[in-house]
Order: sequence, then structure tokens, then C-alpha cells
Amino acid sequence: MNQNFDKVIEKYPAAVFKNRKKHIVVKDETSAEPQEVASNVRTIPGIITNRGCCYAGCKGVVLGPLRDAVIITHGPIGCGYYTWGTRRNKGRTKDDELNLLAYSFSTDLQESDIVFGGEKKLVQAIKEAVEIFKPKTIFICSTCPVGLIGDDIHAVAAKAEKEYGIKVTAFSCEGYKGVSQSGGHHIANNGLIKHIIGTGDKVVGKYSINMLGEYNIGGDGWEIERILKKIGYDIVATIPGNGTVEEMKSAHMATLNVIQCHRSINYIGEMMKTKYGQDWLKVNFIGINSTIKSLRDLAKYFDDPELTARTEAVIAEELEEIMPQLEEFKEVCKGKTAALFVGGSRAHHYQHLLKDIGVETILAGYEFAHRDDYEGREVIPNIKEDGDSKNIESIEVEADPKYYKVFLSEERYEKLKDEIPLNYYSGMIKDMKNGSYIIDDLNHYETEEFLNILKPDIFCSGIKDKYVSHKAGVFSKQLHSYDYSGPYAGFKGAVIFARDIAMGLKTPSWKLINPPWKTQPMLEGSYAEIEGGT
Ligand code: SF4
Repeated sequence: MNQNFDKVIEKYPAAVFKNRKKHIVVKDETSAEPQEVASNVRTIPGIITNRGCCYAGCKGVVLGPLRDAVIITHGPIGCGYYTWGTRRNKGRTKDDELNLLAYSFSTDLQESDIVFGGEKKLVQAIKEAVEIFKPKTIFICSTCPVGLIGDDIHAVAAKAEKEYGIKVTAFSCEGYKGVSQSGGHHIANNGLIKHIIGTGDKVVGKYSINMLGEYNIGGDGWEIERILKKIGYDIVATIPGNGTVEEMKSAHMATLNVIQCHRSINYIGEMMKTKYGQDWLKVNFIGINSTIKSLRDLAKYFDDPELTARTEAVIAEELEEIMPQLEEFKEVCKGKTAALFVGGSRAHHYQHLLKDIGVETILAGYEFAHRDDYEGREVIPNIKEDGDSKNIESIEVEADPKYYKVFLSEERYEKLKDEIPLNYYSGMIKDMKNGSYIIDDLNHYETEEFLNILKPDIFCSGIKDKYVSHKAGVFSKQLHSYDYSGPYAGFKGAVIFARDIAMGLKTPSWKLINPPWKTQPMLEGSYAEIEGGT
């Protein structure tokens, strides 16, 4: 047993010890069996988790970045208020399109609504939203009390859809469902497949793709789009970063789904494969080498010499521009170590970018990932669903009689899946070094202890633990909000990330944490001869 590991968890009471032990793994390449990371289970009460709720995963993450939908939070004001502009998913309006990203809509339930029901208030909120904003789509997201008092938001949505002739869809994403944000992703994916995707018929271009699970934090999606468009791809829909419901309606017309964040969007990827025949490809546009690999994998899928040549030309052109800029930052970063604790995908993606600038990851973990995100999709048949996740609906879809297509012959599919991650994600652990730590649902106590024991140079996490880390003297870089910087994706993003890391490491204030009287003798004096003295 690893001594560091023991030292941290031996302080827990027996039941907590037993539980947390399964969530902390030290990578052991000599292990005969694949290592299992307990995940996607209930958080221990009172342990100070970093996790959020189902509503945050549905409204805050998957639906929130869509520019053209009025998203009404049905509940008391807190849920809508705290998800108002706090995720940096950017959006740029084209022509006279509606851009609602700056708004937060809430029914602001009061005590009397809890007692007598909030449906009337929701009906009124929809009416006002239609009159003021004239949207083509309204989404309703429920919060904790809504499920408890029994408001039928789906009936209200169906009635409003008929009355106003626009799309009105309800999502039952009460915060207590599931164990984290993850249940909310699933609920949002189900609603988008059931009500939105497949309802448009836009004509698409030659190399047509959808970008799934890219959230355009700090402009990441724009940098990825810039590169893909330069090569010649037609991006039919980006779901959801800088995306619109109008574009998403025609997502089924594209040839391939490209998945950045596996955790939050794999359900849509899988359901679109069954319903429309589209394959999905796992990519990673975080990191220079991983961006190059993703672009080459994409070119392999389309198997067109012209596209392949264009891909190589763009890669060469981009590298020529960024590599000289990267050098001075790499000098500062190389040889450093990092600990990463992020939501459900970045703790893996960013290991590649850190490696590109010479930083080694010694600890990585997720708030709400599932075992397949850690260990690879091959473990999915062995994952046991527990009672806490049973209230998250899992839907079955069938081949669409009108739009289902076969894109690859069986022979080509078999060949390709050995070369590129087609409908497959290998998970985080396989890419990690022997002896590194993998920790699921890291809590406040463990954060402090592991920072103290492992002493990484950089701690990449979120806003709640950023200042815990800074107070411990470890430079922290937020990988949710990027500390209001970015983009970090693609080629140009890699340079900005390297610059930000180098700036953080070089900040002179790290040398000023300890006052000089704690490290140096401060008393100064000299002896003077006193005449006649002894
Ligand atoms: S847990 Fe419930 S009350 Fe809290 S933010 Fe989520 S939906 Fe709102």
C-alpha cells in the first residue's frame, strides 16, 4: 500500500475510510487486473465535495450555451441566479439572430407557489418571454422543489407549444436527481434527441461534421472551428458551445459526430449512431500533439487525398506560427509537476497540453465522471447501476426510417476502428504514468493533504479550491473558467495556456508568502568598545 495514500485516508472513520479507499487509485502497471476507480456514486454527507447538482449539469452545462433559446429556470431564485453568466461559454450572434446568453430567466417561486403549485406562474413566465423576446425555442428546467410539489412542467410545455407555435421543451432536472451534474447531462441529451435533433433538413457540405461536447469556454470552440474550417470541414452544428437550436435541428444531416467531452455528450453520440447511422469520433483539441492527432484521425475517417493533403498543410502552417512563440514559455514550465481535478473530461485532456510544455501530471481526478471515463468504454457492461442513478431516464431509440444512413462498409469500419477511436473512448488512466494518483470526487480535506504531501508546482481545478491552493503556496490555474483567460484549445490556445502557466509560475509574490522575520535573522547590531568598560 502506498504510504502517502495511507497517511491521508487513515484519519477517516471506518465507514468513510472503506468508501474513499475505492475512489483513490495509485496507477500500478504491474497490476494483473485492470485498476477500477469507484465513481458516479453518492457523495459522503459533510465531506465538502466540489460537486454540483443535476440542474447544473442540464441547464448550466448542456443547454445554457445555446444562444437562441429562452431557458426558464422554474424554481426559487437562487438556482437561476448562480448559473447566470458564471460559465464562460461565449456566443457571437450572426446577422439579426437572437442572443440570449446575457440573460437568466426564472419563475422566482415564493412560499405561496410552493403551497398552491407553481404552474400558473410558469404559464405566465412563458407568455411574457414570448411577448418580449419572440424566441423560436423555450426550454424549461426544473429545480428541487418543483419535483417535490408535483408541478407538471411537461404538460405546461406541450400546451404552450401548441398555443404559441414555437418549440417548448421541459427538462425534469431537479437538483436531487442522480449524484452530481452528470445526471443533468443525460437528461439534457435525452430531451435534445427526443425534441430537437432530426427536426431540420439543412443541406450540408462535403466534409460535414457536428462538434459535440465543446462548450466554447473562453472561445475554445472558435479556435477549433477556425482550424476545421481552414481545412475545409462543414460544421453543421456545434452542440452546444456558441450553438443554436436552429442549427442543432439539422445535426442528423452531417456525416460524422466529433466528440470532445465524452462524459456530457456520449449519450447523444450513441443515440445518433443508432437513429441516423452516424459514427462518432473521440477527439481532443486540447494540446498541440493531440490536436494534430485528432485532425489526422478525422482525415482518415473521410479518406480523401485532397482533405488529407490540406490537413497536413494546415498543421505545418499552424506549427510554423506557434512553435517559436511557445519556446520562452516552455523554458519556464519544463520539469514542473501538476495535479488536476476537474469535472468530467478536462483532467484527461489537459494532461496532453501540459506534457507538450514539459509538465508532468502526478495526480488527476474528476468530480462526476463514470468508470468509462477513467478506465475506457470497454468497462461499460460491468458497471452496476445503483439506486441513486435509477431516477435518471435512459431512453432507447430506433433507426429513423427517413434519415438513417449507412456511412461505412462493414469492412472499412472494422479496419478504421483499429486505427482511430471510432465510437470508442479509452479513458484517462491508460495515458497516466506509473505511480500517479487517480482520485474521484476529491474533497476539501484530501485536496489540502495531497497538495501538502505531493507538493505539485501547479494545481489545476476550480473556483472553490483555487484559493485553498494559493494559500498553501501552490499556483492554481482554473480549468473551468480559465481564470477569465483563453482560449486554450487548438494551436493558438496552446500558446495562451503556456503563457498563463508561465506567468503564474513566475509571479514574484510566491517568494513573498513567508515574512522575512520567519526565514532570516532580523536583529542586526554591532559591539562597541566602551572606554573603561569590561
Ligand atoms: S441543488 Fe436544487 S436548489 Fe440547489 S442549485 Fe440545484 S436545483 Fe437549485
